[in-house]
Amino acid sequence: MSIQTINPNTNQVVKSFTESSPEAVEAAMIQAEKAFAIWRKTSYKSRANLLHMVAIIMRERKEELAAMITLEMGKLLDQSRGEIDLSADIFDYYALNGENFLDDKILDPKQGEALIRHSPIGILLGVEPWNFPFYQVARFAAPNIMIGNVVLVKHASNVPQCGIAIEEIFKTAGAQNGIYTNLLISGPRASALAADDRIKGISLTGSEAAGSSIAAVAGKNLKKSVLELGGNDAFIVLEDADIDQAVNWAVIGRMNNTGQCCVAAKRFIVIDSVADEFLSKFKAKLTDLKVGDPMDAETELGPLSSEKAAADLADQVQRSVDAGAKVALGGKRLDRPGAFMAVTILTDLKPGMAAYSEELFGPVASFYRVKDEQEAILLANDSSFGLGGSVFTKDIERGKHVADQIDTGMVFINHPTWTTPELPFGGTKHSGYGRELSSLGIDEFVNKKLIRVSALTDAF
Ligand code: NAP
Repeated sequence: MSIQTINPNTNQVVKSFTESSPEAVEAAMIQAEKAFAIWRKTSYKSRANLLHMVAIIMRERKEELAAMITLEMGKLLDQSRGEIDLSADIFDYYALNGENFLDDKILDPKQGEALIRHSPIGILLGVEPWNFPFYQVARFAAPNIMIGNVVLVKHASNVPQCGIAIEEIFKTAGAQNGIYTNLLISGPRASALAADDRIKGISLTGSEAAGSSIAAVAGKNLKKSVLELGGNDAFIVLEDADIDQAVNWAVIGRMNNTGQCCVAAKRFIVIDSVADEFLSKFKAKLTDLKVGDPMDAETELGPLSSEKAAADLADQVQRSVDAGAKVALGGKRLDRPGAFMAVTILTDLKPGMAAYSEELFGPVASFYRVKDEQEAILLANDSSFGLGGSVFTKDIERGKHVADQIDTGMVFINHPTWTTPELPFGGTKHSGYGRELSSLGIDEFVNKKLIRVSALTDAF
């Protein structure tokens, strides 16, 4: 197993890292236990101060950290800057609101008193993906450290510098050793570690295979897990939509992060009467995107995160074409060094084709033409995933009615699925369970303890 920085713009190895030894992981666990014993007793104010400091340092180091993201996984540099801002905002959000979310909840029993107290549960393991190396960690770490839990983080093997940098930021912000620890270990070692009794909960963001592996360990060992997995989001365009606006959002919704977002718009489902207009405008805008080095400010579409990611995506496209799908644009790897895939639109997709049922994690749009709203909803729901989705219409009530019938964790009207600290994030079906962000995200790994005071007059 290799933990390496490989620049996907060139596919050159930049730096290799040694895995944390079993002894180092055991030492980290012991340190985390010691840290938890102290951290659980600290005030919300001091926890908020730590999170605020993390946010400040991230913003101060924005240029350096953004360049690190772009180097390791190929995100456009300006989008990397945006990711650092968003991550800092998440730390600030829980610093500002955490105490309020975690306040005692006073109940109103028939007699006596009762309240719910929110207590931390201990050491958590976070397993995180490369596609948003700072933001994904922020979603997990910020609320949980605010609760008083401590975290061990296993980051993806292709973003080791980002993983190490986050731990350093916590240290610089004043975190005692053991509050936030980065582990350089493989996925299978993370799954094995999840069984350790001292780990009280596990959060994984990633693929179905990794989620299933972690969930099996969590289930066997009777501990809580949260899974944020893949998606195959529908982008429904109704006949009364503003087509130009829908096309502009379609480009952003599909191509943001080179198409490597769990909530990227992946299936474009358009009502027949506006389908030709939508497809020709969508194709024109995608054709215009300037492909190049993600560090270059002029570039509009960079490489995928790795050579393997590009090869796997090209294979999914080819399998779909072999099964009868048509290529309206692109369809192949680009003839240049690096992990590049051509911007692609596939049409004539049918059940059983790779592009119909699998998640396409890159700049490939699946286009579907449907006769009406009901057919659009049926097609949107014909997926094993249930993460996000969007509906474009000028009639907001109609949009809400359609949203209500889509089986996913999030539906946006007149916007691709998006994220901000105050909005909950998560899915249903094979997209996982549990929620991150907002007040819901601080509710997952907490003991909601009932404290009951009986009235002295209570009879036996
Ligand atoms: P991945 O292979 O599952 O990797 C994600 C993390 O899981 C990495 O740290 C990886 O470590 C680790 N891992 C791999 N196998 C494991 C195992 N058997 N046990 C424990 N951990 C294991 O996912 P990916 O392909 O890199 O990431 C893209 C996927 O994540 C997509 O499906 C995307 O939709 C999903 N995602 C979902 C959300 C959401 O919020 N729902 C957000 C972002 C991404 P290594 O790197 O060492 O293999």
